Amino acid sequence: MQTETMFCGTCVAPGQFELISQPMPKSAPDGWVLVETAAVGICGTDYHIFDGKHPFLNYPRVIGHELSAHVVQDAGPWRAGQLVVVNPYLSCGICRACTRGKPNCCMAIEVLGVHRDGGMCARFAVPEGNLYAADGLTARQAAMVEFLAIGAHAVARSGVGAGDLVLVTGAGPIGLGTALFAKAAGAVVHLLDTSAARLAAARAFGFDTGLLPGQDLPVQGGYDVVFDATGNTKAIEAGFAHVAHGGTYVLVSVVRDEITFSDPEFHKREMRLIGSRNALVADFEAVMTALRTGAIDAALLESEVLTLADLPARFPDLVANRDGIIKVIVDFGLPDITAGAVA
Ligand SMILES: [Zn+2]
Ligand SMILES: [Zn+2]
Repeated sequence: MQTETMFCGTCVAPGQFELISQPMPKSAPDGWVLVETAAVGICGTDYHIFDGKHPFLNYPRVIGHELSAHVVQDAGPWRAGQLVVVNPYLSCGICRACTRGKPNCCMAIEVLGVHRDGGMCARFAVPEGNLYAADGLTARQAAMVEFLAIGAHAVARSGVGAGDLVLVTGAGPIGLGTALFAKAAGAVVHLLDTSAARLAAARAFGFDTGLLPGQDLPVQGGYDVVFDATGNTKAIEAGFAHVAHGGTYVLVSVVRDEITFSDPEFHKREMRLIGSRNALVADFEAVMTALRTGAIDAALLESEVLTLADLPARFPDLVANRDGIIKVIVDFGLPDITAGAVA
């Protein structure tokens, strides 16, 4: 008898990305739902996995954590064929964070495509509670919900409100998402990045004040809220100086290093320092609303659309040119994909 197989976009080892054949799953464990991949976003995390720079990762790893999918079979509240957004953060449900409503920072969190195999395959299984109905969204829009939710979460954590002056350092996809939600909250938002190209791209979203490092800030006394989305230790340390007295610094990006700052400068500002990790259900919902209403134009975020078959040849280019890319989407609905094959 023939076994049905599927190809999975796999980082076999640092610097090596291939489509690897695996058995096609036919069912899901109890409480889980089998889904058919619709679209997958590629992001900085995937580039880090390719670079071999991700701190918590074993190879080979099937990537894919920015996911939309169609439900394969009726399961719990889900109906076959329904389009869903996948929340890729699998939480334990019993730790201190989980029992206090913060599964985004579960002590035993496992992220699909990072700590365990992800969704860059024709099919995969997800816990029933990790799906959200994506009615009114396209498959590609739905694949953008997770990365935008990270910015929505950081903004929700910060308490940013109308009239606040906000600086976002790092104008990559996460920084851009953060800036969009800060603006939606009524803040005046400036962006700072080392790449003039990224700052120019941000203009399409209405962010007219883009700053390069070392440039004089256009505000006196600093910003009410500074968000770091740089992934750079020196930039994180430099960001403390941009926070106004009474202001807040939100660290969205994570680095492997220790960071240091001047305690007198921190104290005299009565600064709040906040970490922000992943996102909560409410953040996913806020993003879906923003996409449905057109408050965020997903088409502007879409740099390039690929098929799974395109990916191995293109992956090294994407990694090398990441600064010029907002979001690359692998669309499993396009023809000619190698996603399902019979071996
Ligand atoms: Zn991501
Ligand atoms: Zn937990």
